[in-house]
Formats: sequence, C-alpha cells, structure tokens
Amino acid sequence: MELKNKRVLVVGLGKSGISAAMFLRGLGARVTVSDTRSAIALAEQIPALLDAGVMVESGGHGLLTFRRQDLIVVSPGVPLDTPEVKQVIGYGLPVIGELELATRFLKGQIVAVTGSNGKTTTTSLIGKIFADAGRATQVGGNIGLPVIELIAGSTDETMNVLEVSSFQLETTEDFHPKTAVILNITPDHLDRHHSFEKYVDAKEKIFANQTAEDALILNADDPTTQMCAGKAKSRVYWFSATKIVRQGAFLRDGVVCWVEKEGGKSKPILPVAEIHLKGTHNVENVLAAVCAARLAGTPAEQIRKAVAGFKAVEHRLEYVRTVKGVEYFNDSKATNVDAAMKAVESFAGCVHLILGGKDKDSDYTQMHQLLGERVKTVYTVGSAAEKIERQLLGVVKIVSAGTLATAVAKASAGALAGDVVLLAPACSSFDQFDNYEHRGRVFRQLVMDLPG
Ligand code: ADP
Repeated sequence: MELKNKRVLVVGLGKSGISAAMFLRGLGARVTVSDTRSAIALAEQIPALLDAGVMVESGGHGLLTFRRQDLIVVSPGVPLDTPEVKQVIGYGLPVIGELELATRFLKGQIVAVTGSNGKTTTTSLIGKIFADAGRATQVGGNIGLPVIELIAGSTDETMNVLEVSSFQLETTEDFHPKTAVILNITPDHLDRHHSFEKYVDAKEKIFANQTAEDALILNADDPTTQMCAGKAKSRVYWFSATKIVRQGAFLRDGVVCWVEKEGGKSKPILPVAEIHLKGTHNVENVLAAVCAARLAGTPAEQIRKAVAGFKAVEHRLEYVRTVKGVEYFNDSKATNVDAAMKAVESFAGCVHLILGGKDKDSDYTQMHQLLGERVKTVYTVGSAAEKIERQLLGVVKIVSAGTLATAVAKASAGALAGDVVLLAPACSSFDQFDNYEHRGRVFRQLVMDLPG
C-alpha cells in the first residue's frame, strides 16, 4: 500500500488514532487528525503531533477536511454513523480502521480473538502460551497496545496475538487472520451497533477473508457462534465445556482434551484442577486458547505449564481480600449482563452483588433466575440504578447505594462469614468513573480500607 504524499485523515485521537497518525507520517503521508474534543482537552496530545508535521483539527469535524482526502482512518471510538463519516462513505472515499491499516503492514502470523466477553483473558493466555514455548510473540489490539505499534517488531516468524473488538472489525476490508477465535456472541454495545444483527455482522468479519487454509475456532455451547460455521470457508474447530466435540477442545472426566481431526484420537492436555481462574467461563477461555495453541503446533506439556501458571487479569474476577470471613472480588470488567451473570455463576451462592453504572440498553430481567438462586442482596449504583431496581423488583433484596463507597460499606455490614461481595456491575463505568480500570481500582481501595 503506497501512502507517500497521500492525504490521509485520522478521525479520533485516542491511543490508536495517535499511533496511526505517527505511523502514516513515517510513511510520508500528508496527515490530518480530527477530533470533536477541544484543543484544551487535547493539549497533551497536540504538540507531539504538530512536531511530527501532522495537521490537527479539534473542537469538531469539518466536512471539507473530510472530503479532501485519499484515505480516512477511523478510530474504534468513533461511530460509523457520525454524519461526516457517513457522508464520505457515501462519496465512495475509502474508510478503514487502525486494525485494517496496521495488518496491511504487519509481518508474521495473526491469531485474532473476538467475542462479547473473555477476549482479554483469552488473548493474554494465548500470548503467554506462545511466549513460554519460546516463540517470538507480540500481543496487541483492543487489549491496550494498538496493532500499529506491533509493526516495527514483527518478522515473518512472529506470532501476533490480537484482541479485536466489534468496532475494530467493523472497519476492516482485507483483514485475514490465520487463526480466528469467536468466544461467544451475546448482546453488548447495542447502543452503538443499533441491532443484535449488526453486532453479529461486525463479529463475523473476523473470518470473512479466511480460506480453507485458515482455522476458525468456535464455541459449541453458544448458539450464535455455532451459526458462524455455516458461513465460513475456514476449517472449523470447536470448543465446549459441556460436550465432546468432533474436532477441537473439550472436557472429559475433569481433563481438558484435544482432538486434532474428526475421527482422530483425543489427547489429554491438562486437568481442570490446574486452571487457577474462577468460573466455567474461564474454562471456556482456556479451551479456546488450547485450540489456538495446538493449531500453532505447541506441545501439550508446554500448554499445560503455561495455563497452570496463568493468573486472572486485573479487574477480571480478581480476588481482592477476605475480611471477617467475607471474600471480596473485583470484576469491574463485567460491563454487560452476560459477563455479570458468568461472574455470579462462578460462586456457589451467598453473593452480595454490586450492580450498576451507565446502562447500555441492557435487559436485566435475564438475571432473574440466577439472582433468585445465588444472590442474597443487590446493591445498586450509578445512573442505571433506577432501571435495574425496576427490572429486578420482587426478585431479590435490593439496597439503593448510589455510590460504590456506600455499596461497599453496606455490603460489608450485611455480609456474613462465608459470603462473597462481588463487583460485577453489568454496566459501563462512564457515569461515575474514567473507565472500568478506575472503577476497579476504587473498589479495591475501598475493600483494602475496610477494618479487618
Ligand atoms: P473482554 O476483553 O471481551 O471484555 P475479559 O477477558 O476482559 O473480556 O473479561 C471481561 C469480563 O467478562 C470478565 O470480567 C468476566 O466476568 C467475563 N468473562 C470472561 N470470559 C468470559 C466468557 N468466556 N464468557 C462470558 N463471560 C466471560
């Protein structure tokens, strides 16, 4: 792709937008960036961009800026129905995302992981398995490090393990991972994708360019991902925590097993007891990672060692502390209903659950049965509190807490030895916090400050 002297506009100045702008300048493109935030809000980012010769448009998008381009690179945080973006797509200007741009230059193999939940955990685990096995490994994408930042360090031998979100996939054209994983597809981000069908369409772009040479790893227990098998040209491998699969990874008598080919002999990889992550959902993540690792030729013993040495990623069902016999867990990353339900399911019962934050058009009534079975009290926080309380009325004891500090104080006062206090909010954090990491850190601190 020749970009020297081409006019390229980068829309959105987040982490990946800045990386894209700098990379494009390095290729000799004439780069402009445009962001709706004011110059004051962007004061930290602007000087380095100007120094690199990037033109900056802040405080809104000018349609003229958009029209005068050869290529437009849209950041994952910018909706494709932003009026200016929509218009230039209408004019036929090429509009791609940072993932598409980066992978046109990235060397080596791509293993891409998507799904509504479990992406970061599974991506990190696959990365650890490859790295521990001595392969040249890079991990990036939605996990925090823009894929563009991986280009410089990539060679033909590199295993690039990429976490890819629906927003990143939406703006791909030729993206072509050698191995693609879809962990699960449950309603999420419907506030931006508008419908479940559109969200599924975006996820399916992970295998759109795959051929029979490539592998697609799917969850045999998830009805929506199952449907992908019929649409893909790739070789399909399955993973399941509940049944034996023809080709892929599954559980038998408490052991993770792998079968390479339909009709082939299955091989034990590791006992479930050696997985130091809570919950069946994490067993699913391990099964998916085992498929990706075996397909890349990693020996069973090395997979076993890497999985056994893998601990929960921060803010993902992370154990914080036990106070007066009550265990506290931080699952701030459970930002949708399905993730929160998986978190609750990881405990036998007696859960004090902190729910709420910014609503994402979610349906909390799906939680009715589970709350009735395993949750003693729900503590509501944030702007979604009123909706949650309305939808859960009569199902479970509810305490309106308003803030995380009040929720932790009330939960610690109400919980008995043997109970669990769990932050698994089923909502995003942006009403009261900068992001889920911030929310998780505040929760951890509140728990650490409880008198022991
Ligand atoms: P993502 O990167 O897709 O958001 P994470 O690995 O960060 O995924 O996990 C996010 C949350 O989703 C976790 O806090 C956990 O509660 C839940 N989760 C993790 N893995 C799964 C899974 N396979 N299925 C359902 N929920 C999961």
